[in-house]
Amino acid sequence: MSKALVTSTNSGLYCPQGDFYIDPWRGVDLALVTHAHSDHARSGSKCYLTSEPGQHVLRARLDPGANVESIAYGKKLTIKDVTVSFHPAGHVLGSAQIRIEHKGQVWVVSGDYKTQLDPTCEAIEPIQCHTFITESTFGLPIYRWPSEQDIESQINGWWQRNKEQGRASVLFAYSFGKAQRILSLVDSSIGPIFVHGAVHKLNEQYTTSGVTLPDCKFVGDLDKKADFKGGLIIAPPAAFDSPWTKRFGDYSSGYASGWMRVRGNRRRQSIDRGFTLSDHADWNGLLEIISATGAEEIIVTHGFSQPLIKYLRETGKQARGFKTEYRGEESELAIANEKLAEAYEEDLEKPPAKEDTP
Ligand SMILES: [Zn+2]
Ligand SMILES: [Zn+2]
Repeated sequence: MSKALVTSTNSGLYCPQGDFYIDPWRGVDLALVTHAHSDHARSGSKCYLTSEPGQHVLRARLDPGANVESIAYGKKLTIKDVTVSFHPAGHVLGSAQIRIEHKGQVWVVSGDYKTQLDPTCEAIEPIQCHTFITESTFGLPIYRWPSEQDIESQINGWWQRNKEQGRASVLFAYSFGKAQRILSLVDSSIGPIFVHGAVHKLNEQYTTSGVTLPDCKFVGDLDKKADFKGGLIIAPPAAFDSPWTKRFGDYSSGYASGWMRVRGNRRRQSIDRGFTLSDHADWNGLLEIISATGAEEIIVTHGFSQPLIKYLRETGKQARGFKTEYRGEESELAIANEKLAEAYEEDLEKPPAKEDTP
């Protein structure tokens, strides 16, 4: 058996032949970063290398003055004994799979990825490799995403109806990635769009990076008497149930997350609508990408690792897990999310009626 190109260490995933780390959770000399979500991009390393489209968001999220270098997707770079290149992962702006080649062996570290189309980042490009290191955030067969078109019409329809009833629509969504994806699919002819400060900050980085977003007003720039009727407000889940939402008066609340597939069972303050929208691959998406890599060996890093490993082994692949400290970008908001999940009462496990017809 050939030597491993990536090992799991206390500081993070490590490539001994190239002497660098990938998405380390402790400070190291050289960190290759798949994407700027906080569990994958942590401050404290001497030097960072990321994809060119991801450089502005990464700089904005690390400590000021961090030494960040970037490389174009697909461009090869020699680091010690290995050749590395970054390839689109389709997860958020700048997200990359990192390909490592050494003496004819190819390993790919995918970070987080999704297969659905997202106008705010480049689509995933499956890479042929011998060993594929994958996430498994939604690695259970119950996770199957509705189509982009369905989600788009659900969100726009909800906003339109609220507008007709003279109400504002407050949509809670993770501020980096999810919020911009929503902005790219809403119909801005329905009404004005407003954003929370956390979303506003990220939007600026997206614009600097060349991503076109609709016009959004930053709520913090408006005076207390601003009228939000008929408007759409995008805010992070942490703002749910906070005094910040009072200014919107009578509003309908929505939440966009892959976790919408899991039903909250306790009654609390309620969220009116849930939209199943994730930046991660669903079960079929994971299997599709894993199969497209042609890898003989699969290593699973985070999420529902065991069910995916078990399934892959049953289909004749070599599969095992790596212990990592990646937790999913929404975990830092665990409390807010828990509240949201509990507040969410509609049973989304029932498939929509049209899926019943052949
Ligand atoms: Zn992520
Ligand atoms: Zn992750």
